[in-house]
Amino acid sequence: MKTIELPRKSLTAETLGFFRFGEISPGRWVITNDAGEWEILSTAEFDALLAGTIETRESLTHKGFLRTGSDLDALAERVRRKKHFVGKGPHLHMVVTTLRCNQDCRYCHASRTNLDQVQTDMSLETAKKVVDLAMQSTSPYLCFEYQGGEPTVNFEAIKFIVEYSREKNRYEGKTIDHSLVTNFTWMDEEKAEWLIANDVLVCTSLDGPEELHNWNRTWRKGSNAFEQVMRWIAWFNARYIELGRDPKLWHIDALLTTTRRTLSQYREVVDLYVSLGIRNVHLRPLNPFGFATRTWKNIGYTTAEYLAFYEQALDYILELNLQGEEIMEGTAALFLKKMLTPDDPNFVDIRSPIGAGTGGVAYNYDGAVVTSDEGRMVLAMGDPLFKLGDAASLTYPEMVGHPTVKALAVASYLDSLPGCSTCFNAPWCGVRPLHNYMHTGDVFGQRPNTAKCAEHMTIARLLLNKLDDDPDGDVRRIFDRWTVDRPRQ
Ligand code: SF4
Repeated sequence: MKTIELPRKSLTAETLGFFRFGEISPGRWVITNDAGEWEILSTAEFDALLAGTIETRESLTHKGFLRTGSDLDALAERVRRKKHFVGKGPHLHMVVTTLRCNQDCRYCHASRTNLDQVQTDMSLETAKKVVDLAMQSTSPYLCFEYQGGEPTVNFEAIKFIVEYSREKNRYEGKTIDHSLVTNFTWMDEEKAEWLIANDVLVCTSLDGPEELHNWNRTWRKGSNAFEQVMRWIAWFNARYIELGRDPKLWHIDALLTTTRRTLSQYREVVDLYVSLGIRNVHLRPLNPFGFATRTWKNIGYTTAEYLAFYEQALDYILELNLQGEEIMEGTAALFLKKMLTPDDPNFVDIRSPIGAGTGGVAYNYDGAVVTSDEGRMVLAMGDPLFKLGDAASLTYPEMVGHPTVKALAVASYLDSLPGCSTCFNAPWCGVRPLHNYMHTGDVFGQRPNTAKCAEHMTIARLLLNKLDDDPDGDVRRIFDRWTVDRPRQ
C-alpha cells in the first residue's frame, strides 16, 4: 500500500501562545486568539513563528502570540472585556404588538394577519406583564423593539409600554431605549409627533428603488409603498432638524432584505441609501424557511450568488467612502467592531454563545415568551421548542434558566464546537442553532456546511484582505469610522 506523506510544519510549542490560524488568501495567514487579537503573516513568517525562529515583534508578544514576555493577566482582562455580555441578562426585548399588517411582503416570515383580525392585538394587560418581566432583567440597559405585523396598527400598546416602563424605571434607574420598526403605511402626524416627543427611535424597511421595493413589499392594489416610505423619511428628518436635534444622531434608519431582484441592483440600492442620508446599509440575506419558503423560487438565490453580490456591494460601498461619502455595511461594521476595538457590540445573533434568551427575548402578541423573533416564527408554524413560557406567569429565573436557553447556549458556544473551535474566525463569529434546527432538525447542525458559516467566513476574509492590502491606511481609516457608535443621549 502506498503511504502518503503530508507536509508537517516544524513546531516549537513551548514558545507559542494560544492561537487559531487560517489562510485568508494565497500565501497570507491570519492568526487570532480569544482576546480578539489578530495578525497577518506571510507563509514564511508563519512557518518561522511555528518553528520559534521568527524575529520577535512587539505586537506578537503584546497580543499574546508569543509566550515569552506575554502579560497573561492583561490578556485575560481583554478576554473578559470581549465577553462582557456573558451574565449581563437580556437587553433586547422584541415586542409583537399585533400580527395585523396591511402589507403582504413576498419574503415575510412573520405570521401576519389581515387588518380585521383584531384578536391578534396585544392587550394592555399583556403589555404590562411584558414590561414587568423585561424589567427584571439584570442588564442595566434595555431596548424595547416594536415589531409586528405592522406594530403601529396597535399604537396604544406601544404608547402604554413606553409610558409604563418609564414610570417603572423611576425606581430601577436603567437606561432604556425604544425602537420602532415600521413600514410607514399606517403612520400619521399625530403618531409621528408622539414618537419624536417620546424619543422612540424609528426604523423602516427600505429594499431599494421604487420598482424593487414595491415588488418585494406588496401593498394593496394601486398603492405605492415606496412613496409612503419616502414621504415619512423626509417628514421625520425635517422635523428632527426643526426641533434642533443633531441629524447625525436623529434620522430615520432603514433595514433591507435582499431578494433575487436585489442582486443586480446593489449600486442603485446603495445610492438610494446615500441620497437619503442613511449611514448604514445592512445587506441582510433571506432566511430560506418559514413563510418565505412559499415564494422561494421567485425571490431566493444560492449562497454563492448572495456572497458574490455581497462582495460587489462591499467594494462599491468602500469606493464611495474613498470618494468622501459616509456609508457602511451593517454586518461588516459588526465584524470590524470585534476586530478593531477591544469591545464586542453584543449583537445577539453574532456572538458566542448566541443571545437567544440571554441577550434578547421576543414577546408574542398573546404574551408567549420566545427565545427570538425567529423562534416566534417557528412557534407560529406549530413547533413550541423555542417557547419559554407566558409573560403572565413566567419568572425571570425560569426565563433565563430555561432548558431551551441552556441548549442554545451549548449549541452556539464556539470554543466547544468541532470545526468552529479551531477556526480563525471564532473570536468574531456566531452560529445560529435555530437555523440548524430548521434545516436539519438538530440545533448543532454541521456548522461548516451552513450558509451562515460561508457568509461569516467570506466577510471575515474580505475585511482582513482589505486591511492587509492597504498601503496608505485609507481602508483602515474608513473601517475605524465604521466602528464608532455615538449614544443619542
Ligand atoms: S461557523 Fe464557520 S466561520 Fe464561524 S466559527 Fe464556525 S467554522 Fe468558523
